[in-house]
Amino acid sequence: MYSDLKLYIDGQWLDGKGRKREDVINPATGKVLAQLPHASKADLDAALAAADKGLKVWKAMSAYDRSNIMRKAAGLVRERHDHIAKVMTQEQGKPYPESRGEVMTTADIIDWYAEEGRRAYGRIVPGRAKGVRQIVTREPVGVVAAFTPWNFPTLTPVRKIAGALAGGCSIIIKASEETPGGCVELVKCFADAGVPAGVVNLVFGVPSEVSEHLIASDTVKKVSFTGSIPVGKLLAGLAAKGMKRSTMELGGHSPVVVFGDADAEKAADTIAAFKYRNAGQVCISPTRFYVQEDSYKKFVNRFTEYAKGITLGDGLEKGTTMGPLANPRRLDAMESIVQDSKSRGGKVVTGGSRHGNQGYFFQPTVITDLPDDSKLMTVEPFGPVAPIVPFKTFDEVVERANSLEYGLAAYAFTSSSATAIAIGDAIQSGMVGVNSVAISTPETPFGGIKESGYGSEGGIEGLEAYTNVKFISQA
Ligand code: NAD
Repeated sequence: MYSDLKLYIDGQWLDGKGRKREDVINPATGKVLAQLPHASKADLDAALAAADKGLKVWKAMSAYDRSNIMRKAAGLVRERHDHIAKVMTQEQGKPYPESRGEVMTTADIIDWYAEEGRRAYGRIVPGRAKGVRQIVTREPVGVVAAFTPWNFPTLTPVRKIAGALAGGCSIIIKASEETPGGCVELVKCFADAGVPAGVVNLVFGVPSEVSEHLIASDTVKKVSFTGSIPVGKLLAGLAAKGMKRSTMELGGHSPVVVFGDADAEKAADTIAAFKYRNAGQVCISPTRFYVQEDSYKKFVNRFTEYAKGITLGDGLEKGTTMGPLANPRRLDAMESIVQDSKSRGGKVVTGGSRHGNQGYFFQPTVITDLPDDSKLMTVEPFGPVAPIVPFKTFDEVVERANSLEYGLAAYAFTSSSATAIAIGDAIQSGMVGVNSVAISTPETPFGGIKESGYGSEGGIEGLEAYTNVKFISQA
């Protein structure tokens, strides 16, 4: 029922024989699901050589033919969605309906890039002299090295794989060792759809060893990473040494501003559901809630009601609305956040502790009365803990929302169109949802500013990230 975990290099599936291996754990039970093979240095070199060869083959194909293969892969993802979703729930913990939604969006992203790759237009710029043709065109960046985390086992890898393929690039992806099955199943879809050998390669190993080896190679021309800010800075530094292009999708600490003129209860329902999705382990998860004084009580009550109504359990069980945290590090982090909050005068309105005696479950938690410089208000929680605090004026809340070095996502609720425009403009963030949480779609750019990183995935910007601009002046 789980995935047959292998490496995929140069069109071959390679198992654990003769290779180092590591256990993959089901976070709902703490039990071992399977063993994952690690790529040796020789495997990584084979992947680099394969990607170099694959680049030449893929680049030479027409955008039309590439698009057809990609659309076939999207079809296979849809056909196999039930199995892929079950694999994902077992290794990552999220409830099956969430996994299923992720897999369907994964297919949509492939389709979007398959189409958009056919529209990688250039332009002709009028020349200054007669008979001069000035052509602006786009070329594939080259071989891509990509690194993805454990919270979205297919969605994050597909943004990189499909973006690279649409741009005419080949890719070596190191997906998460903690949730490898989703990406193994995804790569199977690309392989079975007819992506030529060497174009997509999948490896696993000790993250720092794999990234150092791949990024240092002259073969790699672009680095794409999703994960924490400290690791992002490290990898951006490695990429800079070789002057390689990079996309960094890093952490966030997303403010939510609820103005007094908004429907506080409707806003609470919408944003609480979004908060506890994937047990809060989402980079764009709403994580700091500022509510205008008059609506504060109403919002806290409704939000807390929602949190109390969540059913914790194994994601494969019917009726589960929140699964376990993905690994024990998140449990420790939640305990430390709650402890710090209490010591800073915070009031735990609901939750606050672990749940059950197996797996990595933590209760949906709401904390009020926290000072702005407490740990929870300043460090990305990446878990099911929500701090809610009051504010008085527009200028004050903008200053508080913009006070951190994060700049990934932000949300606001208001019934005034003037306030909607003003807050959209004032918030320092790569993405802002005003009366909406739909800030991540295949068609729109996804990415952060400040320490949350640079570059976009999704939208036409996501394709540009995998192409170089070339100017040809022809006389
Ligand atoms: P971490 O910083 O150890 O790892 C984050 C991710 O980077 C993991 O997938 C890991 O395998 C990978 N990684 C670590 N070192 C690497 C290296 N040298 N080269 C390549 N990849 C490397 O932290 P963690 O405990 O796994 O996660 C905790 C924090 O990470 C969270 O609090 C959150 O801030 C951040 N995170 C962000 C996202 C996101 O979607 N932006 C996803 C997962 C985790």
